[in-house]
Amino acid sequence: ILNKYDPFDKPPCRGCSSYLVEPYIKCVECGPSPFLLCLQCFTRGYEYKKHQSDHKYEIMTSDFPVLEPGWTAQEEMALLEAVMDCGFGNWQDVAYQMRTKTKEECEGHYMKNFINNPLFSSTLLNLRQMEDHLSRTADTH
Ligand SMILES: [Zn+2]
Ligand SMILES: [Zn+2]
Repeated sequence: ILNKYDPFDKPPCRGCSSYLVEPYIKCVECGPSPFLLCLQCFTRGYEYKKHQSDHKYEIMTSDFPVLEPGWTAQEEMALLEAVMDCGFGNWQDVAYQMRTKTKEECEGHYMKNFINNPLFSSTLLNLRQMEDHLSRTADTH
C-alpha cells in the first residue's frame, strides 16, 4: 500500500495553482479544507466563491509571526502604502489616509508587525512595485 500522506505536503495556491512557498496566506474563515493563497494572489485581493478578500487570515511561515486579528488584507496593504506615501513616523497623516484605524493603532501595528519584519513588508512592496511596473509596461503596448 502506498502511503502518500506527507505532513509537509500542502495544496497549491487557490488563486493561481502555483506551488506555495513561505510566506503564504491561510484564510481563517474558510474551511474545513485550508484555503491557501500565495502572496501575489493575496495582494491582488483574490476572491473565490465564499472567500472574500476581507476575510481574516494568517500568514503561514516558520519565520514570521502571525499578524494581528482585526486587520484585513486591505488594511495591511493600505497601511504599507500610507507609510510609503506619508513617510515613516507621520502617523497622523497615515491614519488620515487609512480612515479605518487611529494614529495609535497604525503606529503600534506597523512597529509591531513590520519594523520587526522588514522582509515581509519588503516582499509585499516588491510585489506591488513589480505589478505597477508590469501594468505600466502593458499600458504602453
Ligand atoms: Zn497564487
Ligand atoms: Zn476566506
